[in-house]
Amino acid sequence: MSSIASDPMPDARGHFGPYGGRYVPETLMHPLQELETEYLRAQQDPEFQREFEYYLKDFCGRPTPLYFAERLTRELGGAKVYLKREDLLHTGAHKINNCIGQILLARRMGKSRIIAETGAGQHGVATATVAAMFGLKCVVYMGAVDCERQALNVLRMKMLGAEVVPVKAGQQTLKEAINEAMRDWVTNVRTTHYILGTVYGAHPYPLMVRNFQRVIGDEARRQILEKEGRLPDLLVACVGGGSNAMGLFYPFLQDESVNMVGVEAGGEGIAAGKHAARFQGGSIGVLQGTRSFLLQDEFGQVQLTHSVSAGLDYAAVGPEHAWLRDLKRVEYTYATDDQALKAFQELARLEGIIPALESAHAVAEVMRRAPTLAKDRVIIINLSGRGDKDVAQAANFIKL
Ligand SMILES: *Cc1c(COP(=O)(O)O)cnc(C)c1O
Repeated sequence: MSSIASDPMPDARGHFGPYGGRYVPETLMHPLQELETEYLRAQQDPEFQREFEYYLKDFCGRPTPLYFAERLTRELGGAKVYLKREDLLHTGAHKINNCIGQILLARRMGKSRIIAETGAGQHGVATATVAAMFGLKCVVYMGAVDCERQALNVLRMKMLGAEVVPVKAGQQTLKEAINEAMRDWVTNVRTTHYILGTVYGAHPYPLMVRNFQRVIGDEARRQILEKEGRLPDLLVACVGGGSNAMGLFYPFLQDESVNMVGVEAGGEGIAAGKHAARFQGGSIGVLQGTRSFLLQDEFGQVQLTHSVSAGLDYAAVGPEHAWLRDLKRVEYTYATDDQALKAFQELARLEGIIPALESAHAVAEVMRRAPTLAKDRVIIINLSGRGDKDVAQAANFIKL
């Protein structure tokens, strides 16, 4: 705890303890430095802050409500459960917060072209949305397999004027799409900004994305103080790259009474090896620009992952999470596909809210914990997105 209180994280070179940093080809060093300088300048500029807040409010719909889940609370019979409703944002998830911040930065830097990579297509849609809003050219790289699995999101991106490039290398999923986006950026860096979608990659991305997402936790803090007159006892969020979790957790890190749990994708179980729970089966390594925890074999080959929710299905986790775990400030666990699907259905039936399958992992953990806590305890779940995109997928598993 003491090191969180005393040290600004990350340090000047982007390290969170032994994690983070900048592991990129020489050609990307200068663009990353330029981005860092411009970001730090923007962060100090009241005009940039004012613009950021304006678009979050009038374009995205912030602040999002902190909603008391009364029937879920009664059903679980323990702690009071609140939902931070990021599912109500424009485009249906928290990802737009970061996209607004980065596109404003791109404009400041005079970039005319935006690129991004996407797995499930959610970050691609959020990026295409902000690019359309500002009239910037947008190219989104997406694994060819993902393009097929997420055909609706491909159409949404095209509708918004983006060019979607199917990537046919390797497994044809997110990892290959990121490689392709990095290749594009190296080639076109003078005109192009790369909007990375989570608290991952080379410095300054993990820092920058966290700071654009901290609005979630800043709002939740104000809102719970208003509603309960005190801080929450527990925060729970799902962890893919880790941006919605960092966004909620960050403003509470100094509050020692607030416990935090990050929930990874347990897939078909840890023993089966078909999961994306980096903190269960992973080890320290370098992937796509940063040093963190990842699923790799003994030769450093990145392992295949599996999750019912595409947004949690990535082999590595953001470096700040690895550090918070070492510090024992945040606890990390996982929910399996089955547990997430059950929580998906429970929240729909009890609260009239269909959560994203990603968010359902956090709900599943709360279904386990709330009954063990006293009725005067308070839990906040980050409901990172809405589940419309997942209904067809879930219907394959759930008896309706
Ligand atoms: C992408 C996504 C996630 C996972 O990304 P993080 O960076 O870990 O937040 C979680 N929930 C939803 C709804 C998403 O779209």
